[in-house]
Amino acid sequence: MYDVIIIGAGVAGASFANKISRFAETLLIEAQDYNKEIPVRTNIFAEHNKPYIEEKFWNDQTIFPRPFLQLNYKSDKYDGLLNSEEFGAPLGKISHTEVFLKKLLNNFDNQGGTAHYNERIIKVNKHKDYIEIINDKGEAYKSKLLALATGSRGFDLQRSLGFEIPDSYMGIYTNIFADEELLDGNFNFQYMFHLNPNISPNGPFFFNVGKGRVSTGYLGNKESHNELSDKLDRILQNYEKIQKFMNGLSWNKNEFVSGSISKHPIKSFTKDRMIILGEAAGIVTAYFYEGILCGLVCADVASDLIKTLLENNSNFTKAELIKYEQEISQILLKGYFRNGDACEYLFYGGGAYVKSLWSTYTNLLLTNETVRKYVYEAHTIQDLSKYDTDRDRYVGERLFSALPTLSKLTLGPRFFKAMLK
Ligand SMILES: Cc1cc2nc3c(=O)[nH]c(=O)nc-3n(C[C@H](O)[C@H](O)[C@H](O)COP(=O)(O)OP(=O)(O)OC[C@H]3O[C@@H](n4cnc5c(N)ncnc54)[C@H](O)[C@@H]3O)c2cc1C
Repeated sequence: MYDVIIIGAGVAGASFANKISRFAETLLIEAQDYNKEIPVRTNIFAEHNKPYIEEKFWNDQTIFPRPFLQLNYKSDKYDGLLNSEEFGAPLGKISHTEVFLKKLLNNFDNQGGTAHYNERIIKVNKHKDYIEIINDKGEAYKSKLLALATGSRGFDLQRSLGFEIPDSYMGIYTNIFADEELLDGNFNFQYMFHLNPNISPNGPFFFNVGKGRVSTGYLGNKESHNELSDKLDRILQNYEKIQKFMNGLSWNKNEFVSGSISKHPIKSFTKDRMIILGEAAGIVTAYFYEGILCGLVCADVASDLIKTLLENNSNFTKAELIKYEQEISQILLKGYFRNGDACEYLFYGGGAYVKSLWSTYTNLLLTNETVRKYVYEAHTIQDLSKYDTDRDRYVGERLFSALPTLSKLTLGPRFFKAMLK
């Protein structure tokens, strides 16, 4: 009998496995064959993630080969640049996330944790004193507690356990490998977030610039792989606004990766003997689609609580696990997530006004130092439970005042509603 079984070794599951295996007999099960390869991902890792990872990982240059120094909130008209040097330390780091996962899992292994890769869990049976988990080969394992960290790929299992399912969308990306010098010449930023409703009314087109590689793609709605893939190919080839970044880069359409991304947190993250972590619970910010932070926070909060419950010989009832939900809510949902909800309401959905609103915002970023400072501080704040939504209100008000009179009349009610989010 294990103390804890974790299903899913993404950022949420691998971080939780790494932390909890110091105190608990832990089994981690992942459907992908990580022994062959952990899929390459190049991500933005904001400075506000720092409290949730170990110092030795934070300082590891194989995981984080580049600082995140400059962002570009790009519109049709402007490169809305924010350079961290204006305010001090970097905005964060760029992560080669597969290296991060590998190191978390090595640590897990060294601490005595057991990992099974290339194994899918297809059934879970709940009993009063334990949970039984059955894989696709018919093998069964028992545990006192089950942690679901299945991202957007385990919804059937999640449903069968009585958990809600978050809203789910499709996205596509690819990693383009190139000389560092070439990339440095093409990109004067590490992260570009670009809104254009013709690309997608539901999410950004982005560049995440790593070391010797850049990840690019966009987040859409419910399109098929072929639709997403054809469009990404056309954008990379022809979209005038990004051609200056594409000089000398080549890509292979067959390597494009599409998949679901979920957001809008479900109501409850716990049941008797069960918790749910990260994207599976829809704990991803609604506007920037920041999911790594959320996986890390879930792992941190869960391991602190489970450690105490194990020490007290707990039965892991919902009443005891509820503290996990309360803490997640305190750190993420009550403050920081409201920024995402308001921006999602203003900028997504495909209204005709979005292009000009986004242009006005990117110009505001270029011209208003306080707005830049607030964006900088949202990336670098070390205690997210103290995130101050008044700052978002200030930016919202400045944005509204910068709009042409006619837009003010039409968008007034929308801004008012966004402020209430
Ligand atoms: C294109 C794109 C770019 C992004 N960029 C960023 C970024 O720069 N910064 C950021 O913060 N966030 C980013 N995100 C969001 C972020 O990457 C995700 O929200 C986060 O990684 C989710 O982590 P997770 O561990 O919750 O889930 P996942 O990483 O999805 O892991 C879930 C794991 O569970 C396994 N699994 C599922 N079901 C089963 C089963 N039944 N049995 C066994 N295993 C199972 C899956 O194989 C998978 O490995 C991006 C998302 C996308 C789509």
